[in-house]
Amino acid sequence: LVQMRGIVKKFGSTTVLDGIDLDVREGEVVCLIGPSGAGKSTLLRCINGLEQISAGTIEVGGDRLVYEEKHLNAIRSRIGMVFQSFNLFPHMTVLENISVAQREVLGRGKGEAREKAESLLARVGLSQKAGAYPDNLSGGQQQRVAIARALAMDPKVMLFDEPTSALDPELVGEVLKVMRDLADEGMTMVVVTHEMRFARQAADRVVLLADGGIAEQGPPEQVLDDPRSERGRAFLHELI
Ligand code: ATP
Ligand code: MG
Repeated sequence: LVQMRGIVKKFGSTTVLDGIDLDVREGEVVCLIGPSGAGKSTLLRCINGLEQISAGTIEVGGDRLVYEEKHLNAIRSRIGMVFQSFNLFPHMTVLENISVAQREVLGRGKGEAREKAESLLARVGLSQKAGAYPDNLSGGQQQRVAIARALAMDPKVMLFDEPTSALDPELVGEVLKVMRDLADEGMTMVVVTHEMRFARQAADRVVLLADGGIAEQGPPEQVLDDPRSERGRAFLHELI
């Protein structure tokens, strides 16, 4: 579903990604791990065109990414993204947050957008919060709304960039549960995370990014318990 070949990303003279090849199959859950500054966020941002790559090719659903506004909008409408900070619109209710892009980007009618929003709110366990404003929700609830908002666009793939790292520890579980359910339902997901338990439970594949490249990848048990690379062993050692 996502195919990356020879991805190079430079900021000025600094090369952050140095020739990454990565495929994500339909229904696959890939967890991206690696040290701070390894380029995990940059790689995610390249997938939906928020960052322009310096070399290489990216295809999403068979369409090659080209940096032209109309095309970028089309590609982005197929990709849901959830960030560390929840980025909800503060002046809109939860229901409006989940409806606005459906109406403005997908052209759905008011009733249809509302129905979709309500069913997604039920799915993330927040039906009773439809009329609330983001400020009145906990961080975990806000992040679940952000996930519902992304899902409202019927994305082909969901990208998560450390979705739980801004949360108080007791709120992490409720967000990870929503993500696990999504994975179980067959959503294609790329998740940057430090939550190794989530990686073990939900990932089909763990990819360790380090020094601009993929140091190691494979099933979670292999990468997390029996890393083959020096870089992998060093990183995992620091985590324990
Ligand atoms: P973290 O775990 O801390 O989130 P990360 O793996 O997500 O780290 P990135 O945010 O992708 O790392 O950053 C990779 C490198 O690229 C860093 O050295 C960072 O300073 C640099 N970088 C990221 N964005 C920019 C930018 N817009 N301009 C210049 N340098 C940048
Ligand atoms: Mg990051």
